[in-house]
Amino acid sequence: MEKKMVVCLGELLIDFVPQSNGLPLSQVDTFHRAAGGAPANVAAAVAKLGGRSRFIGKVGRDPFGDYLHTALGEAGVEPALVATDEARTGLAFVSLREDGERDFVFFRNPAADMLLRKDEVEDAWLQDAAIFHFGSVSLIAEPCRTATLDAARRARAFGALVSYDPNVRLPLWANADFARRTILDQLPSADLVKVSEDEIGFLYGGVSIEEGARLMLGLGPSCVVVTLGAAGCRVFTQTGDVTVPGVRVEPVDTTGAGDGFVGGLLWGLADAGVQAASLGEALADPTFAVDALRFANAVGALATTKRGAIPALPTRSEVVEKLGGEA
Ligand code: ADP
Repeated sequence: MEKKMVVCLGELLIDFVPQSNGLPLSQVDTFHRAAGGAPANVAAAVAKLGGRSRFIGKVGRDPFGDYLHTALGEAGVEPALVATDEARTGLAFVSLREDGERDFVFFRNPAADMLLRKDEVEDAWLQDAAIFHFGSVSLIAEPCRTATLDAARRARAFGALVSYDPNVRLPLWANADFARRTILDQLPSADLVKVSEDEIGFLYGGVSIEEGARLMLGLGPSCVVVTLGAAGCRVFTQTGDVTVPGVRVEPVDTTGAGDGFVGGLLWGLADAGVQAASLGEALADPTFAVDALRFANAVGALATTKRGAIPALPTRSEVVEKLGGEA
């Protein structure tokens, strides 16, 4: 049987967002809850497009964990959640201030997602994975760090293509050097790496996108995708690169654009049956690369047209319509 399942592992939390933006957190009195966590958003994006996805993570045995379990199910994601009494479900309060800066406070001292252990991740959750996807927030602390890396290794041994979106969230790390070193250390364990232009700057300081992507490719991945915001993205393989322009929209909230983009890309790769061994070749083919990345760009773009991450994710027919109706 062909495997098309996209398995995502990592942080799962509730974002509390003000009912209206523009105030510092100290002045907000009414919040709205939303399921969050980058790998969970990616799983939701795949499901919304009509693909199969599973999310592996840990929540507290509390009403917020129950809510996240339900929210994943409602998004069409198969929840593979471990519940614990050792810590509460992770929470984050985030406000967009008048000046456009984000004001945020995390309740993760620790949060349940950080306590996932490798022995809690069942083989059955990894065996049918066509793609295994992880980020770097779950690499910050033990035991979740080892659980993430061990699951990536096992998924690869079961035949999955491994995808890594470093998704740098500096305030969560002890310091920038530790973040940079940890993020770079994991590049060899991935077949596909997605970074933003800013992340290349953070990781390699002052190099061009091209140089940064080549440095990453030198470490093992067969493909590096660099997102360029409204300008779209650029995909690098061992044999060349292709730039794919963005899809024009009127953005309302850019939260989740990157996760939507990754979900769109992984959905396309899984649907086309691309495997780890054929990834470099597939994306070195300009026709396939342009189709797959135009689709991913459209998912990222449409994700900016509504508030929030998961509620803003498009269906496959919305993407096809945005791209002019073909496919
Ligand atoms: P991240 O959210 O990880 O920082 P980007 O902001 O580069 O990543 O966005 C990811 C992708 O989402 C882009 O490559 C692009 O396809 C799409 N996107 C993001 N912002 C816009 C925008 N304003 N207009 C159109 N597409 C966008």
